[in-house]
Amino acid sequence: MSHKKKTAVVTGAAGFLGSHLTDRLLKEGYKVIGIDNLLTGNVHNIEHLAGKGNFKFIQQDVTEYLYLPGEVHLVFHFASPASPIDYLKLPIQTLKVGSIGTHHALGLAKAKGATFLLASTSETYGDPLEHPQKETYWGNVNPIGLRGVYDEAKRFAEAMVMAYHRFHDMDTKIVRIFNTYGPRMRLEDGRVVPAFIGQALHGEPLTVFGEGRQTRSFCFVSDLIDGIYRLSQSDYHEPVNIGNPAEMTVMDFAKAILHITGSKSEIVHHELPADDPKVRQPDITLARQLLGWEPQVSFEEGISRTVEYFRDFLRIPA
Ligand code: UDP
Repeated sequence: MSHKKKTAVVTGAAGFLGSHLTDRLLKEGYKVIGIDNLLTGNVHNIEHLAGKGNFKFIQQDVTEYLYLPGEVHLVFHFASPASPIDYLKLPIQTLKVGSIGTHHALGLAKAKGATFLLASTSETYGDPLEHPQKETYWGNVNPIGLRGVYDEAKRFAEAMVMAYHRFHDMDTKIVRIFNTYGPRMRLEDGRVVPAFIGQALHGEPLTVFGEGRQTRSFCFVSDLIDGIYRLSQSDYHEPVNIGNPAEMTVMDFAKAILHITGSKSEIVHHELPADDPKVRQPDITLARQLLGWEPQVSFEEGISRTVEYFRDFLRIPA
C-alpha cells in the first residue's frame, strides 16, 4: 500500500498561529491547503512556503461558501481577527467568521468526512470569577461589551462544533488558546507583547493600561502549536486549555521587557479598556493528562527569540 500524504486545511493560514500550524503540519508529512482572506493575516508569514509542492494557498473569505476538490482529512479553523484592537475595528467580520465561517468550515469537514479542530480562546471565560480557569468553568462574559463580538462568536463556534459532533457524529476538537506570543505577531496588532517589545526597541514609553495589576500567562508559540497538534491526533471532543500557566502582572511584564531588551524606555499609564479581564491563567491539568503535553520554552528564552525576530523585522541592530 502506498503511503499517501494526508491533506489538512488551515483557515487563517497566513496569520500568526495559522502559519506556525501550517509549518508543523508540513513537517509532520501533511499536504496543507491554506485559506486566508488576508484581512489580518499577511502573506509574508507563508512566503517561505511558496513553490513547495505540499502547500497550496487560496485567498478566500471563509464566510463565503467553501468548496475544495479532492480528499481532506483534517480541517483546522483558525481564521479570525484575534487581538482586541482588531476585533474592535472589525466587529462584524469577527462575528461572521466565528459563526458563518465556522459553519462553512464544519460543512467542509462534514462533506469530506474530515476531523475538525476549532481554535477557541480563553476569552470564552470572559473576566473570570474562577482562577485559574478549568475547562469546566462556564465563564463571565459581557455579551454586549466591546469584547462581546469575539467572545460570543467563539462561544457560538464552540456550541456549533459540539452540535456537529453530537448530531452528525463528527470527529471534532476544541482548543481554548491562552495568550500566545512569538515571531510573526504583527507589531501593530495592539497586543501587549508586540506593543511593549516595539516600544522598547524604539525607545518609546511602554503603555501599561490601568495600573498594570491585571495578570496574563504567556505561552511561546512552538509550545502552543505542539499542544494543538497533539490534540488533533487525540480522540477527545470537549474543550482543552492550551497555554502556559506562568502568570504575571502586566506591570511585571513591562519591566521584564525593559530588562531583556536593555531598553531605557519609561513606563506610562493609559486608561484600562472596558471589560479587560483582571486575571487569566490556564489550568492545564487536562492537557497534561490527555496529551502528555506541557510548555517547554521558558519565558526568557521565548521573549528573547521574539525580540530577535522584531529587531530583524525592524532592522534594529542588537
Ligand atoms: N495591555 C497594556 N498595554 C498595551 C496593550 C495591552 O497594558 O499596550 C494590557 C491589556 O490591557 C491587557 C493585557 O495587556 O490587560 C493583555 O492585552 P492583549 O491585548 O495582549 O490581549 P488580551 O489578553 O487582553 O486579550
